[in-house]
Amino acid sequence: MDIEALISQTEALSWQDLQLKTTPEAAKSSSEKILVGRLVADRPLNKFAIHSCIKASWKFVQNFLIEDMDVNKFIFTFRTPQDKLRVLNQRPWNFKGHLMILKQWSPGATIEEVSLNEAIFNVQLDGLPLDHFNLENAVDIGKVIGKLIKVEVDPIYGLAFRKFIRIKVAIDVTIPLKKGFPLKRFGNKEVWIAFKYEKLVDFCYACGRLGHSQIFCGFPTSTLQKIRFGPALRAEYYSPQNLPSMQNTEDEAGNMESEDILPSQNNAPSAELAIGI
Ligand SMILES: [Zn+2]
Repeated sequence: MDIEALISQTEALSWQDLQLKTTPEAAKSSSEKILVGRLVADRPLNKFAIHSCIKASWKFVQNFLIEDMDVNKFIFTFRTPQDKLRVLNQRPWNFKGHLMILKQWSPGATIEEVSLNEAIFNVQLDGLPLDHFNLENAVDIGKVIGKLIKVEVDPIYGLAFRKFIRIKVAIDVTIPLKKGFPLKRFGNKEVWIAFKYEKLVDFCYACGRLGHSQIFCGFPTSTLQKIRFGPALRAEYYSPQNLPSMQNTEDEAGNMESEDILPSQNNAPSAELAIGI
C-alpha cells in the first residue's frame, strides 16, 4: 500500500472508530514511582528556585525528575517505589515557606483529576485532662480536624506518655485550620483543647488558611476579628530522636509503607494505630 492510500485510510477514521487500549500493569508500575505536587500559594512562585530547593531537600533520593505541570504544580518521577515512599513518609514538606501537597497519580485518572487540596499533618491534641486520654477520644477529635489516618500509640506506655496525643490527619487546605475546642467537664471548669500543627508554615492570621498572609487576605473578616488566628497553632519543635519508631504504617492511599514514617534512631518499642480512610 502506498503512502497516499495509507493517509486516505487514516483520514477516514474518526474518533468514534478509535479503540484505545489500557495498560493497567504498566500504569500501576508507573503510579508506584510518581507523585504529583502542588505548592499552596496564591501567586506563581519561581519554579527554578523551587526546583533547586526541592533537590536540596530530597538529597536522600537520587536522580528523580521534576516536570512542571502548571503554575506551582509538578510531577515527580522517582527511580523506585521505595524512593517515592521515603519522600511521602516525611510529609509535610515545605519549600520557600510554602506547603507542598503530594499525591499519588492513580492509574485510572488523568493528571488534572488528582486532587491537590488535601495535606497530611501531624497534629498534637494539647490540653486534654488525663481521664480523656483514650483512643476513642483521639479518633473522634481527629475526625473533626479532617480525615483521620493514624493515632500514635505506644504499646507499652499507651497514649499518655507525654502531655498531648499525636495524630496524623489529612486536612482540606481550602478551609481555615481548626484551632481547637472548649471541653466541658462534669464538676470542673471548661478547658481549651488546642490543636498544634507540626511543621506548619506561615498562614493567614485573619482567615486561618494556608497560601497567603493576612496582608493579602481576600476572604471577608470583620475589622474587629481581623486577627483571629496566630502562632499558637504551630507545634513546638518536636525532635524525631525523642519519638518512638513507628510500625505497621499506611499512607493515606492505604498502601503499606516499606519504611518507618520517621527515622528510627532509637530502639524504643512502639507502634501506632493505622485507621483506614
Ligand atoms: Zn486569609
